[in-house]
Amino acid sequence: GYRSRSAYKLQQLDDTADLIASGDTVIDLGAAPGGWLQVAAERTDDGRVVGVDRQRIESIDGVETVRGDLTEDDTQAELAERVGEADLVLSDMAPNMTGEYDLDHARSVHLARQALDVARTVLAPGGDLVVKVFDGRDLDDLEADIEDEFEYVRTVRPEASRDESSELYLVGKGRMTAPVETGD
Ligand code: SAM
Repeated sequence: GYRSRSAYKLQQLDDTADLIASGDTVIDLGAAPGGWLQVAAERTDDGRVVGVDRQRIESIDGVETVRGDLTEDDTQAELAERVGEADLVLSDMAPNMTGEYDLDHARSVHLARQALDVARTVLAPGGDLVVKVFDGRDLDDLEADIEDEFEYVRTVRPEASRDESSELYLVGKGRMTAPVETGD
């Protein structure tokens, strides 16, 4: 069995948007407890899967983990150094919910933008990005910014998230620029 119900969301996202290929290097941001990591490990076969979270992730065969807060530059730098180049960047990061709709939305957009920053650093040309975000007023700006750097963007609402009605995933397909040089 999977560690989280979220695992079914990644299966649906992959089945809908054709994300994971055998041999891929996949980075999963906000990966604890590890359901997405389990699915990614199954679907990449001999690829590489790296999970990051500020919470501890119990070990999974064939999966590397990094512990840290992705809003901090140090964590992003450590990850970039560890991974080099990736084929797919996933983010299921979510803020601690306050129940205040605008605040939860704004915080989720902030986390999604951290994931976009990671993608700018590590994602190979042609690579894909998936970010979770709660619907709200800044969604269109975020989507436009992703659209600038990818061939196209899709919005996917997995069936498994139906009861959390404001949750959706933006999928950037086909990164258009080369990764940013890190200088080393
Ligand atoms: N996809 C995961 C799975 O299948 O098990 C579930 C992820 S859960 C919905 C969201 C995760 O995002 C939490 O584990 C939380 O600790 C993490 N998170 C939120 N903000 C973060 C941040 N700034 N840095 C790192 N992880 C963060």
